Amino acid sequence: MTDAPAYATLKELQRSLEAGECSSRELTQALLDRIEALDGKLGAFLRVTPDEALQQADAADAARRQGRRSPLLGIPLGLKDILCTRGVATTCASRILRDFIPPYDATAVARLRQAGAVFLGKLNMDEFAMGSSCEFSAWQPTRNPWDPTRIPGGSSGGSAAAVAAGFCPATLGTDTGGSIRQPAALCGVVGLKPTYGRVSRYGLIAFASSLDQIGPFARTVEDCALLLNAIAAQDPLDSTSAPVATSDYTECLGREIRGLRVGLPREYFIDGMEPAVEAAVRRAVADLAAQGAEIVEISLPHTEYAVAVYYICATAEASSNLARYDGAHYGYRAAGTRNIIEMYSRSRTEGFGEEVKRRIMLGTYVLSAGFYDAYYSKALKVRTLITRDFAEAFRQVDVIATPTTPGVAFRIGEKLDDPLQMYLSDIFTISANLAGIPGLSLPCGFTAEGLPIGLQLLAPAFEEARLLQVAHAYEQSHDWWRRRPELA
Ligand code: GLN
Repeated sequence: MTDAPAYATLKELQRSLEAGECSSRELTQALLDRIEALDGKLGAFLRVTPDEALQQADAADAARRQGRRSPLLGIPLGLKDILCTRGVATTCASRILRDFIPPYDATAVARLRQAGAVFLGKLNMDEFAMGSSCEFSAWQPTRNPWDPTRIPGGSSGGSAAAVAAGFCPATLGTDTGGSIRQPAALCGVVGLKPTYGRVSRYGLIAFASSLDQIGPFARTVEDCALLLNAIAAQDPLDSTSAPVATSDYTECLGREIRGLRVGLPREYFIDGMEPAVEAAVRRAVADLAAQGAEIVEISLPHTEYAVAVYYICATAEASSNLARYDGAHYGYRAAGTRNIIEMYSRSRTEGFGEEVKRRIMLGTYVLSAGFYDAYYSKALKVRTLITRDFAEAFRQVDVIATPTTPGVAFRIGEKLDDPLQMYLSDIFTISANLAGIPGLSLPCGFTAEGLPIGLQLLAPAFEEARLLQVAHAYEQSHDWWRRRPELA
């Protein structure tokens, strides 16, 4: 097989498998070859698992011969290295989990496995999902397929880059403050953060438990819907997964958007945004209007506090979640320590990277006696105000449209020494996590230099179908998604 399967959509691959034009083994081998040939330059994968993949592919081919049918049967996918995979190392891109081999699958992974998917390997990310550029991986940076001198976004940078590079039609990532939508925007692919509680987080290594959510990356909206179909469900193993019925998320695709009200929040068109980004997003909104949507200017008045609130809540939760890495139970343990305090302290000093330590210290500070009321409990109150802003807005509109990011992919190293600049790249994505609502990013254009631009759509909780419907309507009127980076 040639280049052909690389940029096929999941849906197209499904049809070829169904028609017997190729087997899952051939498809899997072709993508493994492509990864082998090209990923040296990009660093999207931390671990490729060819033996496991080919075994799964053979099993899928055998099941198909026996008459089994499932939309994901035999489809090769990639997984962010924050999701536990049974028998396959899962490091969260951290030295502290270097040798961690989970004895179980995350529920989202198990559901894909049951659906017959093939796992090509584990994808790079910022350590513990803390970052916006993939530069905080303890192992390697990932490069943007559209321009390898630039970052792919983060923290799910490997998941976005793998889809953009044609290594697989779809991947899973996670989003705590934008980590699916921001890299999707910067790599020119579709990324969906479902509602808080829509997808089980059992087996997802925790960063900030009131914000974390798992979701798909793909080249098309329809492919994202197919993945969401497979992973969305209540799970007895995750008490925060919601008892809300799921639907077939492909059913809403193709419905017209005439009469739908699209909100444009004033606060999301700010000074300092890249003009090409603003122009592309405004054009996209005009396209939605041309399809009959009604554009309504709205206000989300507490937006300016979102980054500050997020970096209090997320770091507080991280400091508590990451307390479990003590060198005693599992993960990295420093050698030659003389007592338990030294063991804790050296294991954590050596095991965690700079950014993770910065977050743990910030989080410990905002939770400590004397500062708790001044920072943490105040942040929780403002979080409620941000949630109410959305509730108010969704009384007037059905979806909200914004840029996904204020700029396009920046250069490797550019923001590494300036944490605040790095944090500000999430300014448009963070609020959705604070409010728990679903958000999606899809390509809406390119800069003159050929860098992708993302349009973000937000909807009320559990209205993923509406998000996908609007995104699909926009996607149909353009062929941004057909563009490919030159990799050879
Ligand atoms: N970039 C944000 C952070 O550094 C969001 C990360 C994420 O969504 N996991 O925390």
